[in-house]
Amino acid sequence: MKVVESLEVLWQTRKGLPGPVGFVPTMGYLHQGHLQLVRQAKKQSASVVVSIFVNPTQFGPGEDLASYPRDLSRDLTLLKTTGADLVWTPTSEEMYPEGFQTWVETTQVTQPLEGSYRPGHFRGVTTIVAKLFNAVQPDLAFFGQKDAQQAAVIQQMTRDLSYPIKIVIVPTMREGDGLALSSRNIYLNQEQRAAATVLYRALRAAESAYLDGERSGAALRSVMIETIKTEPLAEVQYVSCADRVSLQELDRVTDGALLSMVVYLGKTRLIDNWILE
Ligand code: AMP
Repeated sequence: MKVVESLEVLWQTRKGLPGPVGFVPTMGYLHQGHLQLVRQAKKQSASVVVSIFVNPTQFGPGEDLASYPRDLSRDLTLLKTTGADLVWTPTSEEMYPEGFQTWVETTQVTQPLEGSYRPGHFRGVTTIVAKLFNAVQPDLAFFGQKDAQQAAVIQQMTRDLSYPIKIVIVPTMREGDGLALSSRNIYLNQEQRAAATVLYRALRAAESAYLDGERSGAALRSVMIETIKTEPLAEVQYVSCADRVSLQELDRVTDGALLSMVVYLGKTRLIDNWILE
């Protein structure tokens, strides 16, 4: 496994990689969810490139950019064991050189849900992912269903900018009790960690209502809210039952709809989602 930092060396090394090239962008502090993307990339590609970059432009003021967990040497060990071929760890200075002023913006699917609580977040995401795509020139790129809106935004951006890249969405990896793996789970104390299963429980309660015949979006949203309310440590920011492509809220729900939510445990902001089938 080769580890490179500068764009120049990345370009050079990229030229020698056998195709198809699969790409997994990450912010590091890797867990099994990230490694699942790498494993999937290995199945579908001849070479696997992973980037590790905590992208400053997707964090808003007051968010956790400075404290975002980092452990590069552990990440590199995990990636080597999992079989990545090339790891790129760009610097902020090179990704955002002085005087930087060119942005990539997807205008509609970025507006609801995360977009309404994290203004500017997706502009940072689409800009960095476009830059990573330009540099790595992958044939396939792998993203987690865990960040459902991000996946929808990247698919839209890829279509709109005509990137010749196949976007593969990988199912969410969970702990045994249902909590979605996340780098931010490290912030949870023991009580909060126990309470954090409420996201999964709320999603499954709404799914169960759907399977019992409930087709009202409002009713499914209130099933999620009522479940979250049973957990005193949890504070809901939003719940949603939306079309999985446009992310518009649904009145009448059909198969393929996306349930999603953000719940705070103390200061930790947890996100999760579930697709109704
Ligand atoms: P991040 O490092 O948080 O930016 O995540 C990098 C990629 O890993 C994104 O495509 C995420 O959606 C994906 N990811 C994060 N957590 C999980 C998980 N529990 N299961 C599957 N993919 C995940």
